Amino acid sequence: MITWPDHTTDHRPIALTATGGIDRAAHHRLDEAWLGAAWSHPTTRCFVVSGGQVLIEDTEDGRTELVTMPSFDAPLTEAHRYFLGVDEDGVRYFALQKDSLPGRMDGAARPAGLREAGALLSERDAQLMVHAVALENWQRMHRFCSRCGERTAIVAAGHVRRCPACGAEHYPRTDPAVIMLVTDPEGRALLGRQVHWPKGRFSTLAGFVEPGESLEQAVVREAGEEAGVAIDRVEYVASQPWPFPSSLMLGFVAHATSAEIRVDGEEIEEARWFSREELRDAFASGEVLPPAGISIAARLIELWYGEPLPLP
Ligand SMILES: [Zn+2]
Repeated sequence: MITWPDHTTDHRPIALTATGGIDRAAHHRLDEAWLGAAWSHPTTRCFVVSGGQVLIEDTEDGRTELVTMPSFDAPLTEAHRYFLGVDEDGVRYFALQKDSLPGRMDGAARPAGLREAGALLSERDAQLMVHAVALENWQRMHRFCSRCGERTAIVAAGHVRRCPACGAEHYPRTDPAVIMLVTDPEGRALLGRQVHWPKGRFSTLAGFVEPGESLEQAVVREAGEEAGVAIDRVEYVASQPWPFPSSLMLGFVAHATSAEIRVDGEEIEEARWFSREELRDAFASGEVLPPAGISIAARLIELWYGEPLPLP
C-alpha cells in the first residue's frame, strides 16, 4: 500500500490516459461496409498524421484543438486510412497517414508532436492523437513480414498487417518499460540524472522490460543496474502510453532496503536521495529543475511529494 498523502483529487492527471470521450469501437474494424458508410457520413472527421505530428490550432477562447476536416475534404492521395473510434455524439474519427502534413490556406494551424500537443489538447483530442501516432509508428516500421520477409498489407482499418505470402497476421507492437520512484527507509526519494541531460534535470529511474521478465523483476533489475540500489518491495501505480516510438510506461513505487547508491556512470551520471524539504529547497534555489512535459515521471514524483510540483 502507498502510505503517502493521497492528493488524487487535486494533483494533475497523467497525460494521454483519459478514459471516456472516445469509444474505439474495435468490432467495426473488419466490417468494410460499415467503415465505408462511416467514412462517407457527413459528420465524420479526419486528420492527417505524419512523422508523429498532426496539425493543431489555438481557438479564440484559449483552447488548443486538433485540426480535423470532413472526409469529403480529405487529402486521400497516397494516404493510409485508420479508423480511431466514435465520440459521445456519434462522430466517427479517422486518421490519414501521409508522408507530409497538409498546408492550410489560413495559416493558423501549426504542426505539433505528441510531447507538445499532449499537454495542450482536450482529453478527447489527445486520445485520438496518441492512438494515431502509435499506429503510424508501428505501421512505418513493420511493412514487411517478420516471418517470411514479404511486404504485408494493412487490414482491420489500420490495426493489423497481413502477409499475402504466408498468411501471418501482425498486430501493433507495444514495448513495456518500467518507470519507478524509489524510496529509502527514511522515506526519501531517489532521483537520477542521465548522462546527456542538462544540468539540474533529475527524474525517476526507468528502463525496458527484458524478454522473460516480470514487471517487478524489471524494476528490481533496473534499480540495481542504474543506481546500485537493492529493492525489496514494488507497488504498481499507473501506466501511460508512450509511443516514442512504441512504449508503454508502467509506473511503480519501489522501496529500497538501504540508502546505498552506486550509479552505473553510463546511463545515470548522478543519483541522489531527496527528502521532501530538500527537494522543495532544490526547486527554490534552481539546483533541481521542476519536471517538464507530459511524462508519468512527474506524476510519480508528485504522488510522493504530496503536493503539486512547481511548474517548469
Ligand atoms: Zn509472411
